[in-house]
Amino acid sequence: MAEKVPARALTRPIMVGSVKIGGGAPVVVQSMTSVPMIDAGEGPVLDVEGNLAQIERLAAVGCEVVRVAIPNRASIARFGEVVAASSLPVIADVHFDHEIAIGAAECGAAALRINPGNIGSMQRVDAVIDAAGHAGIPIRIGVNAGSLDNAIAERTDLNQPQKLALSASQFVEHFQQRGFEDICISAKSHDVMTTVAAYRQLSRELPQVPLHIGVTEAGTTQQGTIKSAAGLGMLLAEGIGDTLRVSLTADPTEEIPVAFGILSAVDVRRLSPELISCPTCSRCQVNLIDIATEVSSRLNQVKKPLKVAVMGCVVNGPGEAADADCGVACGKDCAVLFAHGKQLRKISAAHIADELFALIDEM
Ligand code: SF4
Repeated sequence: MAEKVPARALTRPIMVGSVKIGGGAPVVVQSMTSVPMIDAGEGPVLDVEGNLAQIERLAAVGCEVVRVAIPNRASIARFGEVVAASSLPVIADVHFDHEIAIGAAECGAAALRINPGNIGSMQRVDAVIDAAGHAGIPIRIGVNAGSLDNAIAERTDLNQPQKLALSASQFVEHFQQRGFEDICISAKSHDVMTTVAAYRQLSRELPQVPLHIGVTEAGTTQQGTIKSAAGLGMLLAEGIGDTLRVSLTADPTEEIPVAFGILSAVDVRRLSPELISCPTCSRCQVNLIDIATEVSSRLNQVKKPLKVAVMGCVVNGPGEAADADCGVACGKDCAVLFAHGKQLRKISAAHIADELFALIDEM
């Protein structure tokens, strides 16, 4: 029996539209659109149709909250159009210009994401806080290793995780002194262990504040998946993190199955099936790679948290197949089918996938 993942500390919940983050809610999976701006006649602006299309594709693969960058003031009203037509709550991602954040709050953003360190001054940050308060929406305070405030970045007595955590903590203190508690924080780095250390510190020092976790700028699909799994897996297994984004240099829809895969792997949130399949060895007498690949591909369509075992021989096969919801232990061109821990019958290797999915359909 695997060691139970510790319960996440109960953070103070925030609502992003209808989605609850923190306060013991399931860890929320989010992403961000990546549609280039279009030229609508007076310079580049947000592409409303393109963003809505990408949001619907993200929703279709299970994304629960989406972030949209507002690149300039000319795009604020267009952002409002995206919010109005989106099936997912939309967070406004704003850098540098506090007027954009205020405009986003006024036109229906479900939340704001700002880095207070690049908004220009704390007076401008306060104007954003007031706009969010008036709109009744939360703010994510997002600090990033690439854009730390100079006064903190230049300190030689702190390491990088401590700088990230200090920067976030100082902003949280400012928001709270202004009476605004509807916040969550992120402190991301491209470096896995820096990210992990920063979030561990934040979780210790600010246990009541929901954490948006992620390894930022993690790279293209393979490297980004590995870095995200390592970093987020460690944090989630320690009970840290209320919402997450996997950042891939890829179509954002690729981020969602990776995010849910990480949550499943550390037993924090399981919505989809898990395939248990062995690496094969000389004892295997079927084409297990092809069989497992077909089962894996067909499992992508299944929305049940089942464990399905596809095992190459009798060494570990019967045990794993019996331990799963259903599975097979293969022999020479054949397999023994298992369901709910019981051996059912011997089947031909050619029918393994179909036999498994007949069982899965009934589960
Ligand atoms: Fe080899 Fe059998 Fe183990 Fe698969 S289950 S790796 S075939 S010993």
